[in-house]
Amino acid sequence: MAHSPKITLVPGDITEQHVDAIVNAANSSLLGGGGVDGAIHRRGGPEILAECRALRAGHYGGGLPTGRAVATTAGRLPARWVVHTVGPVWSRDEDRSELLASCYRESLRIAAELGARTVAFPAVSAGVYGWPMEDAARIAVETVRSTQSAVEEVRFVLFDERAYRAFAEQVHSS
Ligand code: ADP
Repeated sequence: MAHSPKITLVPGDITEQHVDAIVNAANSSLLGGGGVDGAIHRRGGPEILAECRALRAGHYGGGLPTGRAVATTAGRLPARWVVHTVGPVWSRDEDRSELLASCYRESLRIAAELGARTVAFPAVSAGVYGWPMEDAARIAVETVRSTQSAVEEVRFVLFDERAYRAFAEQVHSS
């Protein structure tokens, strides 16, 4: 039976996580970028990019739309799959929260389809895409808590102290 996944918080680097699937805060090109995306391709090796290129040549010719997710191999990373999702760029004028929530739901759906039981997420959109960390943490935690999934554990991997504090605040206060 599906439940909402148990949430754990870990400070550190997502590329070092021994989980079934790690989620990449990718961009729509799927062809790599900075931040966590750069780290995943660097540490995971060229196999990940090769699969991303194949996705672009096939079903995702126009790129992966914001809020959606797709899986590839994890290459040399200590995980089985990388689930690439495209977070929304933060906007002051437009509420894009539903798209950010969709990243978590879609990533969990894809991971569960693959048979993943443990899934690690970074703080999607909270880096270069500019989403305020407290709000990014709220959406992440609320969305996982309200999603029924065969995934048993969602591990938020927080790269710096500020991110860790924001997620801890959400997990413990609500
Ligand atoms: P986005 O473009 O979606 O904002 P970023 O990669 O710029 O994605 O940032 C998302 C979050 O991931 C930020 O909080 C950033 O500090 C964090 N981050 C960067 N590198 C890593 C890593 N190796 N492991 C986990 N989190 C990371």
